[in-house]
Amino acid sequence: MKTVDNYNFENKKALVRVDFNVPFDKEFNITDDTRIRAALPTINKILNDGGAVILMSHLGRPKDVYEEKYSMKHVVNYLSKLLGKEVKFASDCIGEVAKTAANGLKSGEVLLLENLRFHKQETTGTESFAQELASLGDVYVNDAFGTAHRAHASTTIIAKFFPNDKVFGYVMANELENINKVLNASEKPVTAIMGGAKVSGKILIIENLLDKIDNLIIGGGMSFTFVKAQGGKVGSSLVEENKIDTALKILKEAKEKGVNIYIPVDAVVADAFANEANKQTVDINNIPDGWMGLDIGPLTEKKYAEVISNSKTILWNGPMGVFEMDNFASGTKAVAEAIVTATLKGAYSLIGGGDSVAAINKYELADKVSYVSTGGGALLEYIESGSLPGIEAIEK
Ligand code: AMP
Repeated sequence: MKTVDNYNFENKKALVRVDFNVPFDKEFNITDDTRIRAALPTINKILNDGGAVILMSHLGRPKDVYEEKYSMKHVVNYLSKLLGKEVKFASDCIGEVAKTAANGLKSGEVLLLENLRFHKQETTGTESFAQELASLGDVYVNDAFGTAHRAHASTTIIAKFFPNDKVFGYVMANELENINKVLNASEKPVTAIMGGAKVSGKILIIENLLDKIDNLIIGGGMSFTFVKAQGGKVGSSLVEENKIDTALKILKEAKEKGVNIYIPVDAVVADAFANEANKQTVDINNIPDGWMGLDIGPLTEKKYAEVISNSKTILWNGPMGVFEMDNFASGTKAVAEAIVTATLKGAYSLIGGGDSVAAINKYELADKVSYVSTGGGALLEYIESGSLPGIEAIEK
């Protein structure tokens, strides 16, 4: 893997695609700076080599035109403070403004370009737009793992204009190294824990994982499609009727491949989708009419914790229940704790995908697992297909 460590940036202008898509409060204070901090090592490596840094990113979802609330200008002072040096700003990412700012940039200086998504051509991956961006720098660095699954102008198309001068930043390299540790795991048993709302978003991942894992633990809303597929009564739980065949296929494939598949045996059910709803614990195959499963039950929790804590490699994506409601968070918390236990015993554990990351943070356990991935959609697509457009563009 070619990273910034394999490149000497002396007297070069590095065009760095970062992920500065950060959340703000109403006064434009950054409420979570994780993504900005993550980019600092790459920026500093280029500066220490004696190069100049031109940063480009998207922010929010503007409708292809300038919208003040999505301006990158809100990031300038904050980044400046973190870097301990002035950060220049170009009020457009292409055109005269950007060109003049980039041309005037000296070694050791940092320039931040305005939001890429103020131009439609970013997301449509338009080549001429990518070429304009490319003309600003001598070398291209991709450090935005979170958007590497998009064939956008700044994440993928641009790379072709730097045939010999394109490398991964540290965020990207780190993510890939950690995910590959799970996908090529040598330490068995390997356990994947899949939860969340629906089977439909996770089928390809599950199918791809079946060749690599020993245990597949299913939880969350998607369990009920599996339960119904096996003839259980699921009440008014979330079910994807059109995925029942898929669930049966996964069960069959798992059996053929010798993967132990774990479906919940009991559930905490509620008479409404609300934290204060009446609740009871029932056999997963006999959920009364009018009741919906919102968490795994205590027997399932115990079994899952046992399997997880005896695993040597763990991948967790998706909560076991509606963990946003405290009354239905027990299963998710138990899984998070079991992963910590396994990690303490020497297992390698990777948490990825939006909601499991939110869960591990909620229980303040993020620093007790091996790795928390920053890229939700990108991570899942990487597991599905083994590569991403933004990765291929650099490696090609
Ligand atoms: P996903 O984005 O597919 O990973 O789904 C995450 C969401 O699934 C979370 O917001 C959970 O509240 C929700 N979820 C988990 N378990 C259930 C369930 N049993 N019924 C409905 N939603 C659920």
